[in-house]
Amino acid sequence: MKNTAPAHTGRHFLQIPGPTNVPDRVLRAIAMPTTDHRGPEFGALGREIIAGMKRVFQTDGTVVIYPSSGTGAWEAALVNTLSPGDRVAMFETGHFATLWRQMAARLGLDVEFVPGDWRRGVDPAQVSEVLAADRAHSIKAVCVVHNETSTGVTSRIPAIRAAIDEAQHPALLMVDTISSLASIDYRHDEWRVDVTVAGSQKGLMLPPGLGFNAVSAKALDAAKSAKLTRSYWDWQAMLETGHTGFFPYTPGTNLLFGLREALTMLLDEEGLPAVFGRHARHGEATRRAVAAWGLEVLCADPREYSNSLTAVTVPNGFDADRLRETILNVFDMSLGTGLGKVRGRVFRIGHLGHFNDLMLCGTLCGVEMGLHRAGIPHKPGGVAAALEFLGSA
Ligand SMILES: *Cc1c(COP(=O)(O)O)cnc(C)c1O
Repeated sequence: MKNTAPAHTGRHFLQIPGPTNVPDRVLRAIAMPTTDHRGPEFGALGREIIAGMKRVFQTDGTVVIYPSSGTGAWEAALVNTLSPGDRVAMFETGHFATLWRQMAARLGLDVEFVPGDWRRGVDPAQVSEVLAADRAHSIKAVCVVHNETSTGVTSRIPAIRAAIDEAQHPALLMVDTISSLASIDYRHDEWRVDVTVAGSQKGLMLPPGLGFNAVSAKALDAAKSAKLTRSYWDWQAMLETGHTGFFPYTPGTNLLFGLREALTMLLDEEGLPAVFGRHARHGEATRRAVAAWGLEVLCADPREYSNSLTAVTVPNGFDADRLRETILNVFDMSLGTGLGKVRGRVFRIGHLGHFNDLMLCGTLCGVEMGLHRAGIPHKPGGVAAALEFLGSA
């Protein structure tokens, strides 16, 4: 039978908000013979990458690395610090916040889930309200998704921290940075976050397979009395890694070779401030294109626009997944699908990780041509608006 799928040449455009494009030099660093994970060379690598990850999290505290997806690092944050029946406050910012809440409920936590409309981040005033009502201090943790990857909304962690302080509430603050770390400014120590959750396949420019926790002294203290069952995720056995460089069980050795290379690129060559500036520039250029097309970004509050991805709403009566399908078939570009409640209503443009101006231009060209081909009502000129911005800014 004849293959009717169009033949594609050149590079595929992977513009989903994770997994992201992996630099060739990171792929080459991963393509190494497997080594002895208990040997001296590996110890040096372990120490180096933990030190590098501390700089990425902007912390002097503890960093733990698991061979896992980001979901594993979510679970680690909860099971190391909490006990069955503990109350936790979570906020419905979108699909990922909803999944984290489901996990917390399955683990036997009592979740207070503050509803949201999937167009806004966590409202600091609501954090104040929930905590002020909890005079008995029965809420043990406030869990927030920093960058909600399903909606393209970035919650303002410093304002949330301030709300917790104002309520003089002792709850731990846990933050999911899976799609913001190493793309959008994030400060574990300065914002006094207790557990930060991250993964390898978004801003860190690696394939999937590494999960991270950055852990405060207060969270380590909570771990001493936390009663949720844990074994694989137990921080205790991981605490020495920062000094020894060795892991309690076999780490994702080759991904760690890749992480060392990615850290060199992010920290030593480009530098985090420039990394954040680049993402802000690409976020702004993308939003200008969307505005010129006469389409709407899902995020309703300009203070919360995400710089790592943009979720774009298609007009009523049109299917965002059909547009994505057209763009994939004709132009060989993958865009992010609408997840959960916004399925079919939005498509997501990932502009994070290993990315530059011309890659963004190609991405936006693919979207604009796709809108035309799929018959989605829009105005021309989105690409031109982005070019104007990128060419002058
Ligand atoms: C991708 C993502 C996750 C899930 O991570 P996995 O590696 O797929 O387990 C969780 N939270 C956010 C914000 C994400 O972007």
